[in-house]
Amino acid sequence: MQNVTPHHASMTASATSPDVDWIIDRLVEVVGVQNLPCPLHRPVFSPSAQAYVQETMASGWVATSGNFLNRFEALVADFTGAPHVVATSTGTAALHSCLLLSGVERDDEVLSPALTFVATANAIAYCGAHPHFVDVDRATMGVDPERLEEYLRSVGRMVDGHFRNLKTGRRIRALIGVHTFGHPYAIDAVQEICQRRQIIMIEDAAQALGSWIGDRHSGTIGHMGVISFNGNKTATAAGGGAILIRDADLAQKARHLTSTGKVPHPWNYFHDIVAYNYRMANLNAAVGCSQMEDLPKFLRAKRALAADYQAAFAGSSVAIFHEPAGCRSNYWLNALQLSAELAPLRDILIQRMLDRQLQVRPVWTPLHRLPMYINCPRMNLATTEYLEQTVINLPSSPFLRL
Ligand SMILES: *Cc1c(COP(=O)(O)O)cnc(C)c1O
Repeated sequence: MQNVTPHHASMTASATSPDVDWIIDRLVEVVGVQNLPCPLHRPVFSPSAQAYVQETMASGWVATSGNFLNRFEALVADFTGAPHVVATSTGTAALHSCLLLSGVERDDEVLSPALTFVATANAIAYCGAHPHFVDVDRATMGVDPERLEEYLRSVGRMVDGHFRNLKTGRRIRALIGVHTFGHPYAIDAVQEICQRRQIIMIEDAAQALGSWIGDRHSGTIGHMGVISFNGNKTATAAGGGAILIRDADLAQKARHLTSTGKVPHPWNYFHDIVAYNYRMANLNAAVGCSQMEDLPKFLRAKRALAADYQAAFAGSSVAIFHEPAGCRSNYWLNALQLSAELAPLRDILIQRMLDRQLQVRPVWTPLHRLPMYINCPRMNLATTEYLEQTVINLPSSPFLRL
């Protein structure tokens, strides 16, 4: 786009700026006029989904055990290469379980990007622990390893085998890295920084089913990883999550913790820990199985859509996020990044896109500005704030290219 006129930004007249119209026209071209109103992300189901749900109901095994549950876990393990998979009722429940299984305790701190869905920090708070917000990299939108290293050097030190925040005196037990919108973060560098400090790295790969770092699937590299199967994710079980685990013992503990701590027995009720009712229901797993079978098709469609967004804005003052070098993204949600000059037009753009029946969304309000997390420790979050002002999520449903 050659005719960028950033000075329009300060004028009310910018609502009719040709830049805004130009951007919106490109978006409508990509999604297709016939698809308006266009949702941000709508799932599609094969006939098998209905068939599996009916089969589950007929069997009576609708709740937290059954064949589809086992099959769903096997499908996710097979696809991701994770040695063990434990299906949960939500991705949030999976994250909470991972933190508990990693030994996060009350009054620990857990590092988390401020640019993520609120569930990441909520899972930390459920443990009685404190989110400690770190900034992200502008290109990947994931944890920035260089700035993390520099920050950890200034904020803490090893005391008796634990990394402590010198300001708060609290132990920094874990870090949750988020593969934002399905784009992998600089995971090996972040992992190395954590390992040197006995900080456990958990992967919030909630958005990243079908995203790869080389030949390793997201969520299989850290101590544990989490995938979400919520209704708006790449594959859905209506609601659901999965914990990806390498270690067999830990997988056993995860099953126990998410199944009310019941000690297996043919008929006796005996529970040996305070645990959770976090298992996925067989009925949800039935939907999940159908979606896992369709996943390769969804990923191809999302990739084709992303390529079309890229082409539509090539050489213009708006950029479309793309997969980092050496990685393969699932392109769960395409995201448009405005130039700094266009940033003041963000809200106008969003409103105009909505008026044109394009369901777009800004990124999440950074978590350090939510009332319950406003006093959490944090580093300088300049990039998070920059991304908040310049990123708009675009319609990304697989049906647009199926
Ligand atoms: C969706 C999501 C979650 C939570 O998953 P639910 O299944 O909705 O509980 C956690 N973290 C991130 C980054 C997510 O996008």
